[in-house]
Amino acid sequence: LSDNGRNSSFRVPQVGGPGANAMLMQRGDAAVSLNGQAYIEAVDPRLDYMIVSGRQAPLRVLQAVGPVPNLEGIQLVAQQPLHLNGRLYEVRCSQRYASCLIAALRQPPSIFRSPVLLEFGMFGLLIGLSGGFAASVAIGRSRSLGKQLRVAMRSGQLKVVYQPIVRLSDRRQVGAEALLRWTDPTGKPVSPDAFIATAENEGFIGQVTRFVVTRVLEELHDELRRRPDFQVTVNVAASDILDNAFAPFLSARLQAAGLPPTCIGLELTERTTANSRELGKAIARLREAGHKVYIDDFGTDYSSLSYLSRLRVDAIKINRAFMQALHDQSDQDTIAPQIVAMAEVLGLSMVIEGIEEEQQAAYFLALAPTALAQGWLFSKPVEAGRLFAA
Ligand code: C2E
Ligand code: MG
Ligand code: MG
Repeated sequence: LSDNGRNSSFRVPQVGGPGANAMLMQRGDAAVSLNGQAYIEAVDPRLDYMIVSGRQAPLRVLQAVGPVPNLEGIQLVAQQPLHLNGRLYEVRCSQRYASCLIAALRQPPSIFRSPVLLEFGMFGLLIGLSGGFAASVAIGRSRSLGKQLRVAMRSGQLKVVYQPIVRLSDRRQVGAEALLRWTDPTGKPVSPDAFIATAENEGFIGQVTRFVVTRVLEELHDELRRRPDFQVTVNVAASDILDNAFAPFLSARLQAAGLPPTCIGLELTERTTANSRELGKAIARLREAGHKVYIDDFGTDYSSLSYLSRLRVDAIKINRAFMQALHDQSDQDTIAPQIVAMAEVLGLSMVIEGIEEEQQAAYFLALAPTALAQGWLFSKPVEAGRLFAA
């Protein structure tokens, strides 16, 4: 069966389930198999059912659980029960797919003859099936997201924007964070949170990071040579830091651009900071090579404190969730003062993220006068050409 680019095959033997057949749906490079038996068992084991294609004769049985009655010459009417071989079958037809579900209670004991119970069974089954369809669509999408991203990297759909980082005390721009932007072929922006997670899960975040580093140096090398103190930070995953080829890659690119290592800083996001000795050693090597290492989005995770004592880094970026807390509640309710005090004790620099309002800037200026800051109040992310325009 084929409909707008999707192929559906029925009764495909299932790997790992001897004797089990599944429905297989394919679109592009995504394939999802759906075993109706799994749903019926979870939903109501007392139902016999069939999924058939179309409503007119000849009806083709696509999948069945229990005995299949003779359907020759039968015409289905949605919602209208069907009497076959002395059994009463309920009929439900999909509005989206050219298929109907025909189901009957299995040897109904009197208590189960209630139409209410049958209705529940049917409802559950339909939910199970539509859940399967929804899951298949979602899985298909995320699989192809990874592939699309790899194509996007090659075909110029990705660009890097830069969000200025300022000194909170005088608002002078001292650096910028490189942020990836992806506009898909239909012109829609794809959220970095979604595609970065996909790249991490599918194991090609390393390519993404290298793409960003390369692009930053291509776009900014002239300006960076003129400003030896300016630092661009790049977001990296723990796997980048642990990759033995990453430090040599960075140093080769910087050397080719005629720039010192201090001009590229690395932001490691908390969720990727596995608490391993290897990670600690790799971070130490990168710092020795001259890169500043930041813990990004600090304060969003319980593990924050425990790994800070083990991983030696240069600075923390305080997550913008704290800004939200300041916006919504009174100053008393935030733990920002404790975090600032802790950073000071540990000798860590701070970047306060996501400052949108003057009141937030004033609050943190009083709390951490030497901190750096980043947020819409100072500037949204801009393209390379506009970073040094002001
Ligand atoms: P992040 O590294 O914490 O980056 C800061 C995010 O906060 C950016 O979102 C930025 O646009 C946003 N932001 C900055 N100031 C404000 C503000 O005042 N208000 C609000 N509401 N938001 C603000 P973006 O660009 O959507 O990136 C989201 C996340 O995706 C990043 O969080 C980072 O974890 C990841 N990401 C983005 N680009 C890359 C990349 O090249 N590599 C990797 N590995 N991750 C990336
Ligand atoms: Mg970041
Ligand atoms: Mg952040």
